[in-house]
Amino acid sequence: MGKLSITKEFTWDMAHMLASYQGLCKNLHGHTYKLQVEVTRNSEQLITDSEANSGMVLDFKDLKKVVKEEIVGPFDHAFVYWTGSSDVVEHQIAELLKEEGRKVVEVDFRPTAEEMAAYFLEVLNAKFEEEGVRVSKVKVWETPTSFAEIREDE
Ligand SMILES: [Zn+2]
Repeated sequence: MGKLSITKEFTWDMAHMLASYQGLCKNLHGHTYKLQVEVTRNSEQLITDSEANSGMVLDFKDLKKVVKEEIVGPFDHAFVYWTGSSDVVEHQIAELLKEEGRKVVEVDFRPTAEEMAAYFLEVLNAKFEEEGVRVSKVKVWETPTSFAEIREDE
């Protein structure tokens, strides 16, 4: 018995700032993020109960729907705001944007690619819990040559 996985890619644009960073990333700036989500199932437990999806780990369409709802939709063209930031400016920017009805996503972690990858793995696994699949790997690119990767513990 082996493990089978499928992977789908997504992109979105997002603004953030990294409090206390010694360099340019302390400034408000943005990236075009790329995300890869890998979903795994035991090879002997592929979908059989629906002929439409028979032989699949998960329908790519269903993976896309969940990732769009949970990640790409909320985060695209948003300012990601770390509510625990030590940078007063970050709080002021978030307040101003919220007052003006602009898109702000509040997170309780410093919005590095690493923290976002860990957060996405947790969010997606909670969503897919009932489907009998595991999100086994998440990769988040902040630039075309820089990414963070998290693998689920075996
Ligand atoms: Zn950045």
